[in-house]
This record gives sequence, structure tokens and C-alpha cells, in this order.
Amino acid sequence: MERIIIIGSGPAGLTAAIYAARANLHPLVLAGGLYGGQLMLTTDVENYPGFPEGILGPELMIKFREQAERFGARIENVDVSSVDFSKRPLVVRTDDAAYESKAVIVATGASARWLDVPGEERLRGRGVSSCATCDGAFFADKQIVVVGGGDSALEEALFLTRFGKRVTIVHRRDKLRASKIMADRARSHPKIDFIWNAAIEEVQGETHVTGVRLRNLTDGGTADLHTDALFVAIGHTPNTAIFVDQLDLDERGYVVSPDGSATNVDGVFVAGDVNDHRYRQAITAAAAGCRAAMDAEKHLEALEFKVDSLARL
Ligand code: NAP
Repeated sequence: MERIIIIGSGPAGLTAAIYAARANLHPLVLAGGLYGGQLMLTTDVENYPGFPEGILGPELMIKFREQAERFGARIENVDVSSVDFSKRPLVVRTDDAAYESKAVIVATGASARWLDVPGEERLRGRGVSSCATCDGAFFADKQIVVVGGGDSALEEALFLTRFGKRVTIVHRRDKLRASKIMADRARSHPKIDFIWNAAIEEVQGETHVTGVRLRNLTDGGTADLHTDALFVAIGHTPNTAIFVDQLDLDERGYVVSPDGSATNVDGVFVAGDVNDHRYRQAITAAAAGCRAAMDAEKHLEALEFKVDSLARL
């Protein structure tokens, strides 16, 4: 029987692990096969306090992990396949094991969204990617298209200028959603250009990407654009498939937390991007992980005090 299980190992999950471990709760972190969350897929993190020169996303997550382990968190790189929160103790299952726990912190984060157009899935890993850090180097001196108008798209595009001959950002509106500083950097970069008011309707190519079909959203016309790669950076979907029917989710699938980090199920807490579609920053996720661990600790204290009192009767 565990006292606390943390599902997820991004900034939220690992901060929860640091706090729970330092509270002597000996947390078990089910980190997911792809440990570390979205920061493992980013490059420079320039806005995480304490790193004035910036730090690489994966390097930051290794530091989070080391800090959690230093205080006794046990971290297993396994995916959770299902949960049963209707029972006490709470049950968390992987393909190979079932764990029982008095408290659970859900910190499963969010995943990259795809365009869902012909050719995209077929050519994934053959020019279609959602991770510039992972795949950018394959496109040295090539033509690259990035789709999206948020910070992620511009960050990917700026990173890809290190490799590509030219990086074209395709956005469905004529106004960027990204922060001004990122927009200014991208707009003034000599290797970056923009195609506004356009949607990608198809990814072309047999064995690898050779182009995209664009629809002009102003006049409805279509045109083919040659490219060797398409990087999709159009936002994220919360990783909540295993919590359907177990936790209250909102209409977009994010876990609802009506009071602090508490969910609608007693003993289950939530932190990070899996219930935050507004801020979605490493620092806000980390702060949420801290709150969830402190809330879980209070919950366990009350639960264990009740059990002790009953035992004494
Ligand atoms: P986002 O802010 O939600 O932006 C998604 C972009 O993709 C929007 O421009 C959106 O267009 C476009 N889009 C969505 N669905 C689309 C579709 N089906 N086809 C074409 N375009 C589509 O997501 P994000 O860029 O991943 O950023 C998420 C959060 O993380 C934000 O708060 C951001 O500030 C933060 N972030 C920060 C940094 C940084 O500070 N270094 C880096 C990355 C992310 P519309 O604009 O028309 O909606």
C-alpha cells in the first residue's frame, strides 16, 4: 500500500514528488514511458527563474528528477493504463502491475495536437514532426514549414533556422497569438517568412514530405508549396483518456479542480497542464505540483489521524 502515487513526471509531477518526499511520504512516481513531459521536447528555457543564462528543457528535467530522488522519491518509467478511483484504497494500474494508494496526484500533462489532414500521419517521422529539437537536425539546408501562430510555433521556427535554408510559418489568421518578444524575434529573423490566412489541407510526398497544399482562407484558393519538412505546433490536448468516468473533466477534457488542487474525488489531486489551459508554463506547473503535494499531505494527515483515533477507541 502506497501513501501517495504521482502520475506524471513533468515539472508538476516532479515538484509534487520533491515536496511529498521532503514530507517523508516516500512517493511513488509513475513517470510514463516518455519520462519528463513536454520540456523534454523543447530547447532553451529562458523564463524559468534561477537560470539567468537559460537552460535546456531536458537538462532542467534531469535536475528536477535528481532533486526528487535525493529526498527518496521512487521513480518508475512506466505508463499508467487505468485507474479505479471508486475504491478505497485508490487503484492505479500499469500493464504489468496494480498499485493501491491512499492519495494520488494526477500530473499527466498535455500532448501536441495534430492537423488531422491527409498525408500527415503517413509521413510522420518522414518530414512531419511536432518536435524541432528531436528532428530539426535532419533538415540542414532544407525548406521547412511550421504551422501555428502561438509561442510554440515561433519557438520551433526560430530553433529551426539553425538548420533550415528557409523557415516559412503558416498561420490561419493574420495576427499572431504568440508573445510580443517572440513575434518580434521571428518577424525580424532573415530566414523566417510568413504565409497568413492559410490552412494546410494536405501533406504531400510518397516516401518523405515534398510539399503542402495550402488553402487561402480569404479567397478560398489553393496552392502547393514545396517543403522538405512540416513542423506542427498548434497547441495541446490534455492527457486524460484514462480518467474519463473517473474524474470530472471539462468540455475540452481538462481535469476540473473546483477547490485548489482537489478534484471531485476525495484523495485525488491534480497539478499542471492536465488542468491548466490558461498559463501552461513550467513554473506554473511546478507551483501547482507543490500545492497538490501540500494538499495531499494534509489529506493524508487527516486520514491517518482518523484511523489512529479509531484504533485507540
Ligand atoms: P497556443 O498558444 O494555443 O497556440 C496555438 C496556435 O495554433 C494558435 O496560433 C492557433 O491559431 C493555432 N492552431 C490551433 N489549432 C489549429 C489548427 N487546427 N490549424 C491551424 N492552426 C491551429 O499553443 P502554444 O503555442 O503551444 O502555447 C501554449 C502555451 O505555452 C502558451 O501559453 C504559450 O505562451 C506557452 N509557451 C511559451 C513558450 C515560451 O515562453 N518560450 C514557448 C512555448 C509555449 P489561433 O491563433 O487562430 O487560435
